[in-house]
Amino acid sequence: MKKIYIISIIIISIFIISVVITLNFTKSENENNKQEEITNTQISEIIEDECTEEYLQEKEITPVVSEPEKISINAQLILKKYFSQCDHTINEYTEIPEECVNMTKEELQEQYPDWEVIGFEPNKVTLYKEFDDTCGEHFKLKIEDGKINIYLINKDGTESLYEKTNISSEYLTETDLININEEGLEIYGKEELNKTIEDFE
Ligand SMILES: [Zn+2]
Repeated sequence: MKKIYIISIIIISIFIISVVITLNFTKSENENNKQEEITNTQISEIIEDECTEEYLQEKEITPVVSEPEKISINAQLILKKYFSQCDHTINEYTEIPEECVNMTKEELQEQYPDWEVIGFEPNKVTLYKEFDDTCGEHFKLKIEDGKINIYLINKDGTESLYEKTNISSEYLTETDLININEEGLEIYGKEELNKTIEDFE
């Protein structure tokens, strides 16, 4: 009888201990889950905050970047003309017309639909156009009556007198004389013409 009593006490106490352990275990698992949930919520909140900040920053920068450049009152206008028949490009430098001051690139392009705006800075604007023509700056130097005369070569290949100079052929070097010879010396461009004439003087 005593033995049975002791055994039953042991069994009951084992049962109680196991119940207590199980309860404790379940409790702590629940707490762990709760903590994880809290951590997840915090992380997702932080990410949303960062996104919102970046979004706001982008919105603030955009208007500054899209501010269009406009032509200033002192701007230089360059007309770049390409002549397909002689493959020459001529640049003409002028002041910007008054009506173009404060125009944006798009407004300028609308103003000159035949030209292409290839350069646009507030102080320098470049327009480009192609012509099915010769550039009209083909010259020829000839020695006539001991003096140098300048001829303009026309589109049809004929020559017309452009300017008579007072440069005497007797002061030219032998090399210059060989260059000019009987056929004449062809020169392209007004700049090059002026340079050559200065060298002869
Ligand atoms: Zn040409």
